[in-house]
Amino acid sequence: MADEIRCVLMTAPDAPLEVRRVKAPRPAPGGAVLEMVASEVCGTDVHLHHGQLAGVPYPIVPGHVSVGRVLETNGPLRDVLGEEIGVGRLVTFYDVFGVCGSCWHCLVAKAATRCPSRRVYGITTGLADGVLGGWAERIELRPGVRLLPLPEGVSVEEFMGGGCGLPTGFHAVERAAVALGDTVVVQGSGPVGLNAAIFAQLKGALRLIVIGAPRARLEAARRLGADETLDITEVPDSAERARFVRERTGGRGADVVIEASGNPRAVVEGLEMLRDAGRYVVVGQYTDAGDITLNPHRHVNRKHATILGCWGYEYTHLHRSVAMMARHRERFRWSSLVTREYPLAEAGRALADMEALSVVKALVRP
Ligand SMILES: [Zn+2]
Ligand SMILES: [Zn+2]
Repeated sequence: MADEIRCVLMTAPDAPLEVRRVKAPRPAPGGAVLEMVASEVCGTDVHLHHGQLAGVPYPIVPGHVSVGRVLETNGPLRDVLGEEIGVGRLVTFYDVFGVCGSCWHCLVAKAATRCPSRRVYGITTGLADGVLGGWAERIELRPGVRLLPLPEGVSVEEFMGGGCGLPTGFHAVERAAVALGDTVVVQGSGPVGLNAAIFAQLKGALRLIVIGAPRARLEAARRLGADETLDITEVPDSAERARFVRERTGGRGADVVIEASGNPRAVVEGLEMLRDAGRYVVVGQYTDAGDITLNPHRHVNRKHATILGCWGYEYTHLHRSVAMMARHRERFRWSSLVTREYPLAEAGRALADMEALSVVKALVRP
C-alpha cells in the first residue's frame, strides 16, 4: 500500500485549492478505505469555498457524495441487508456519521438530520479528522458508515449524475406529499431541482413546471419530463412568473411548489404560485442568504398553506432513491447530467465552472 496519497485541500475560505500529499488513510476496526473513482462538485462546495457555511473545520478535503472501490477493510463490512461487501466492490456510502441515536433530536423529535452530533463527509470534517472527503485518491470510511453497493446496471456516471441531488430531491418530494394528479412547480433547475422534478413525476404529478436558469439546465429539465420551463433571465419580473403559473392552473396556483433555488426571494414568489391549501417545501436554502418579507395573512394563514423545511437526508432516502434510479434509469438517464469531469489538479476550475453554472453536474476523478 502506498504511504502517501494525493488529495485536494480547501485550506480557508476563498483561498486557492491545493493538491497535497498526505499519509494514506488506514481503516479503523469496523471501517474501510476506498479507492476513489469519482466525487461530485456541487453548489455546497462553492458555498464552502466562500466560507458561507458555519462550523466548517478548515482545512478540509471537499467532496461528500462519492463512489469508490473497497480497497481495504478492517473486519467484515456489511450492507443494510447483512450481505458482506468484499474488497474490490464498487460502492457509494451515506456521507453522514456520528448521528447518535440517543439524543432528544434522534429519539424524541425523530429528526436525525438535526442531531447535534451529526457530521458530514467533506463538509463538517477537517483534514485533522483524516481523509474524509472525496476529492482524494483514497477516502477513509469510519466504522458505522453505511455502504451501499451500486445496484446492477447503475454506472458510476449515472449515480454521480444524480449525486447529492438524488436523495435530496427524493426527500423534498416525500416531504411535499405529491399526490396523483398534482400540478407541481419546482423553483430552481440545479441538481436538487432536477431530481425533485424526476421524483415528483414518479410520485404521480400530472403537470410539472420548472423555473430556473440557465438554458442548458432548463433543457435538461424538459428532457427529464417537465411540461414547461420558465427562464428567469427571460422573465425577470417575479409577479409575471407567478402569473405564468396561475394562468396554467385555472387562476388557483400549483398544488405543490418545491423551492430548490437558494435565493430567499424565491420563497415569497413560490407562495404566490401556490394554491390555497397547497404544500410548499423549502429545500434550497442550505446556506443563510438573508431575510425576506412575506405577508403572514396572505401568504400563509388565509391561504391555509402548509410550509415545510427539508434539511439533509437520511440513509433511507439514499437507499430508496438509488433503488428508484436502478428501476427508472432508462427513462431519466441521469448520466446525461454530468457535464464535465476534472482531475484533482483542476478542482479549482471545477468550482469556478460550478459557480458560473456552466455545468449541471461536475465530477472530480482522481
Ligand atoms: Zn442524536
Ligand atoms: Zn452536494
